[in-house]
Amino acid sequence: MPKTLSTEVMRSSPAARQAISLIIGRDKAELAELFYAAMLADHEATAFLAPQTVQSRLKPGMMRWLETLFCCETAPAFEAAIAMQRHVGDVHARADIPVNLVARGMRLLKREIQNRLVDTELAREALVEAILLVDRLTDIAFEEMSAAFVRSHERSVRTDEAFRLFAAGQNIATERERQLGALLEWENRVFRALTTENDLSNLPELHASSFGLWLNHKASLMFNERLELQTLTEAVERIDLDLLPQLAEASGDLSRSLLRRMMQEAERIKFLLTEMFDRLADLEVGRDTLTQLLNRRFLASILKREIELCRRRHIGFAILMIDVDHFKRINDEYGHEIGDQVLQQIAMHLLNNARAGDFVFRYGGEEFLIVLAEVDQVLAMKAAEKLRKRVEEAELLLANDRRLRVTVSIGVAASDGHPDYERIVERADAALYQAKHHGRNRVHTLSDTPAIAG
Ligand code: GH3
Ligand code: MG
Ligand code: MG
Repeated sequence: MPKTLSTEVMRSSPAARQAISLIIGRDKAELAELFYAAMLADHEATAFLAPQTVQSRLKPGMMRWLETLFCCETAPAFEAAIAMQRHVGDVHARADIPVNLVARGMRLLKREIQNRLVDTELAREALVEAILLVDRLTDIAFEEMSAAFVRSHERSVRTDEAFRLFAAGQNIATERERQLGALLEWENRVFRALTTENDLSNLPELHASSFGLWLNHKASLMFNERLELQTLTEAVERIDLDLLPQLAEASGDLSRSLLRRMMQEAERIKFLLTEMFDRLADLEVGRDTLTQLLNRRFLASILKREIELCRRRHIGFAILMIDVDHFKRINDEYGHEIGDQVLQQIAMHLLNNARAGDFVFRYGGEEFLIVLAEVDQVLAMKAAEKLRKRVEEAELLLANDRRLRVTVSIGVAASDGHPDYERIVERADAALYQAKHHGRNRVHTLSDTPAIAG
C-alpha cells in the first residue's frame, strides 16, 4: 500500500470527509438494504446469496465495510480499510464470485452515496470534493479487491490443476525416471565430446537437451512450486552460459576443476528434481503418508465441488471436524511412535465407518475432517455420534501387544448455502471447540446453525 495514497486521502478536505461520514453513519443500514435488494433481484447474483445469510451476516458485514472504507479518520485506519478490501477479494475468489458482479455492486453504492451528498447543504466546493472522494475510495477498494481476487484465484486454479493431474493419475514415477535419464544422457554427451573431439566450441547445451526442453515447457505444468523451478532454471543457465563456454577454452587443472563444478551443478539438479517428483508423487496418490487418508490440500477442491452441487442440485453436505482428546498425554506417556500408531488406527476406524461417498481427510496433527456427502444437519449429527461411539468402543492394538482406548470430540457443520468454503470449516471448528469446552468425547454443532438452504 503506497504511503502517498493514504496521505493523499487523509489530506482531502475535512468538510468533505465529515459529510461522507455523516451519511454513512446515518444511512448505512439503508444502503446495505438497497444493495442486497438489488443483488437479490439480479439473476446472476442470486446464485451466490442465500436469503437468510443476507439478513444475518451479509448486511451487517456490508455496514461494517461502508464504515471502514468511508469513515477512516487516520492513516492507520485507512490502511486497515485497504487490508479489508484484500480480505474481501480473497473471500470473493473462494466463493468464485464474478468480478463484474462486484463492479456492479460498487457502482450502485457509489451512486447512492453521491446522490445523498447532493441532497445535503454542503457548499459547492466541499460537495465536489466529497463526490470525488467517494469516487476515489470506491475505485481504490475495487482495485485492491480485484488484485487480491486475481492472486487468490490463480492459486486456486493451480491447486485445481494439481488436482486434475492427481485425478487423471499421471504416471509421476515414470516421468521422474525419464527426466533423470535425460539428464544423465546429456552428461554422457558432454563427456564424450570432451574426450573425443578437438573442437569444443559446440559442447551440448543443457537447455537444448531433452531434459532442458521438458524443464522449459512441461515442468511448470506439473509443478506449482515456482521457487524450485526457478532454482533449476538458474542451475541450467550457470551450466550453459558460464561453465560450458569456459570448459571449451580451458585445459589441464582448470578444465578438471570446471568439470567438477559442472558435475556438482548436475548433482544439485538431480537432487532437486528427485525431491520435487517425490512430493508430486505424494500428491498424485493424494494421501497423507502416515494415515493414508486424503491430503488436506485437496479439501478446497472437494468443498468447492460440494458447494456447487449444493447450489445447483440442492444437495446438502456436512463437515465433521474431529480432534483426538488429550492426545498429548498419549505422546507423553508412550512416546511419539506409539502416538503415530494411535493416529493410524483412529484413521482406520474413521475410514471403515465412513460411507463410500464420504471424503476422509487428515486435517492436521491429530485432527481429522470428514466431508459427508448428501446429508442434512440431522443425519450429519447421527453419523458423527456413530463415529464417536465407534472410536470410544474400539480397542487400539499397539506394538508390544499394548492396548489402548481413546476418545474424540467432533464438531459438526451442515451446508447453509454459503458460497465460501472456509465458512463451513470455521463453523465445524467452532463447534469442535464447544465440544472440547463441554468436556470432550462428545459431538457438538453450533446452536444457531441454520437448516440446509440448498
Ligand atoms: P485436546 O483434548 O484439547 O485436543 O488435547 P490434546 O492434547 O489432544 O491437544 P493438543 O492440540 O494440545 O495436542 C495435540 C498433540 O498432538 C500435540 C502434538 O505433539 C501431537 N501431534 C501432532 N501431530 C502428531 C503426529 O503426527 N504424531 C504424533 N505422535 N503426535 C502428534
Ligand atoms: Mg488438536
Ligand atoms: Mg487433541
